[in-house]
Amino acid sequence: MNWIRRIMAGRYGPDHLSIFLMFLSIILSVIFRIIGIPWLFFISYIPLVWCIFRMFSRKLEVRSMENYRFMMILSPIYKFFKRIRDRSRDKTHKYLKCPKCKASLRLPKGKGKICITCPKCKYEFIRKT
Ligand SMILES: [Zn+2]
Repeated sequence: MNWIRRIMAGRYGPDHLSIFLMFLSIILSVIFRIIGIPWLFFISYIPLVWCIFRMFSRKLEVRSMENYRFMMILSPIYKFFKRIRDRSRDKTHKYLKCPKCKASLRLPKGKGKICITCPKCKYEFIRKT
């Protein structure tokens, strides 16, 4: 394993964008395999070559900026899934949307039918929690 360490010394290595490119290459190759057009199959190698180029690159700052920009694009999607995960783990609260202003409201679970006042628009509505 020392030879890998020697080769990768001073090089960028894998990151989120590289892993994404690797999976993109696999997905594209499967899709083109299913479609069955042989010349399109080579398109699936483009992300893989880009991934290998990035991993072996010595321009660390340029590669980390690429990864940073990629993560900035991905962050709203990541936040969306994180919010779903956090809400599904929260067993003591129920999440509702205000019917008037669509603001997200967090309510305690198991309180029965209660009158809810939206803190944003002061609209009152009755719901079971
Ligand atoms: Zn409201």
